[in-house]
Amino acid sequence: MAYKLKNGEFKISCRHDGCPFDFKVKIKQNIMGMTEEDVEEEAKKLALDVGRIKHDAIYGTKHKLTNPAIKKVSGVYEAIGQKKRSIQYQSEAVKYKDFKKGDNILNKGDIAKTICEVIKGGAQVDKNKTHLYKPGESFGASALLINQARRADVIASEDHTTIAFYNLKELSKKDPKKAKELYTEAMEDIFDVIDKLEGMVDSLEDQLEKSTLICENRKERIKNLEEDLLNVSQKLQEMGN
Ligand SMILES: [Zn+2]
Repeated sequence: MAYKLKNGEFKISCRHDGCPFDFKVKIKQNIMGMTEEDVEEEAKKLALDVGRIKHDAIYGTKHKLTNPAIKKVSGVYEAIGQKKRSIQYQSEAVKYKDFKKGDNILNKGDIAKTICEVIKGGAQVDKNKTHLYKPGESFGASALLINQARRADVIASEDHTTIAFYNLKELSKKDPKKAKELYTEAMEDIFDVIDKLEGMVDSLEDQLEKSTLICENRKERIKNLEEDLLNVSQKLQEMGN
């Protein structure tokens, strides 16, 4: 099997003391290799060449690109000549589906039966656009709880997003290792939610305590003011006499 890089982008920075150079290079060339690592190595070489030219054009009179750092910002490795996974590997344990940007992957209210993993592209919870699930990350942990409805819509964040839907019960028969991995990750997700809820309860308790205190203080002040007022009116009466 061979691989190619799609939409590859790398960030090049310079480690020369105080150098602000930080440059993104899009790889437009069609790079292919026998493994993903081969493709990445080739793409990094190319990105570095472009980065070096750019760097030295700006800072070259002071210093050359020094001990450069290269980081992959985006891009996916696609198998060439492989049958579409969505046709090849469908089973009771796992089903693959492709989505366009904005398509619903999960619908709020549906009964949760599967755990999802991003294979390609990305997914986000409709209401919380800050968190993006990237390839290799899973979501939909509520499937671990019986008869639990999906709590939110999850949508594809880009075109050509591929999601794997795992049926944990079936998967544990076929691929116990993968099932365990997903189960562990999902449990972490659930603990995360519990953690957040506990945090919210704590802060609500805090607030309640504070407002009770403020309320007590106000009562005290009103009492004092009433006493003052009483004193003043008594004095006025005395003066009037
Ligand atoms: Zn530099």
